[in-house]
Amino acid sequence: MARYAYVNGRYVDHRQATVHIEDRGYQLADGVYEVVGVRDGKLIDEKPHLDRLDRSLKELRIASPVSRKALVFIIRELMRRNRLRDGLVYMQVTRGVARRDHGFPTTAVKPALVLTTKNTRHLDADVGPGIAVKTQPDIRWERCDIKTVALLPNVLAKQAARESGAYEAWLIDSTGCVTEGASTNAWIVTRDSELVTRQTDTGILAGITRGTLKSIADKLQLKLVERPFSLAEARQAREAFITSATSFVTPVVRIDGEPVGDGEPGPTARRLREEYVRFADAGEAVT
Ligand code: PLP
Repeated sequence: MARYAYVNGRYVDHRQATVHIEDRGYQLADGVYEVVGVRDGKLIDEKPHLDRLDRSLKELRIASPVSRKALVFIIRELMRRNRLRDGLVYMQVTRGVARRDHGFPTTAVKPALVLTTKNTRHLDADVGPGIAVKTQPDIRWERCDIKTVALLPNVLAKQAARESGAYEAWLIDSTGCVTEGASTNAWIVTRDSELVTRQTDTGILAGITRGTLKSIADKLQLKLVERPFSLAEARQAREAFITSATSFVTPVVRIDGEPVGDGEPGPTARRLREEYVRFADAGEAVT
């Protein structure tokens, strides 16, 4: 079966899909993106993801390439063509194609829109064995709240983690606190059973999964505190886990090779994962 990509108004064979060499996303990382999870043909949290895309565009003064209504249609059409059941929809908007210059183009340039889909395995409600994380210095810029395609610090941190046998990198700021993962938000459960995740400001991405989990934690009457937490605190934590559109809720069982708690996925992460999957399953199928 052919796999399609959407590129600036056309559905094209994924293998032949291309963008212009003077696309500002390619040359200057002048663009933003979103990743929406799909489970059983259902988009998870589509609206908040599209709201965040709008916000990222606004922060960088890039115009929306198409209306919300059109984008919603394109997402569904691509999912339908690719028979996407479990996986993700990736969308990217760049400032467009223009003669290379750091300043914004002075002539009217249409923003470029690309969408692709990826199949993944059907994620279980069970958390699995958990993952290891490796800490890395957070060397990113001061607007991590914008979901831009400029991901080089994240790429390098993730690669360092992978080379040490860990799945994710946890980024550590100059005060010794964990900001977030290279592509996930970071959480701990303290010895006092407090659920802690860093507050959203310009220092981290306001994860959509993080937002949904906050509501779930509230419903479960868990004590949630949004504040910075140090690496030392994370090492002493009873549990730790990550959240993202693609990993849902996944326990962290080792930090830099040392076990978290008893080194096994804990009850809070298990419960939150189950509830998150229940939430995802309650959505409406679009394919
Ligand atoms: N933090 C970073 C740096 C990310 O790249 C991502 C996702 O790509 C997240 C957090 C999690 O965000 P979401 O839950 O919206 O996938």
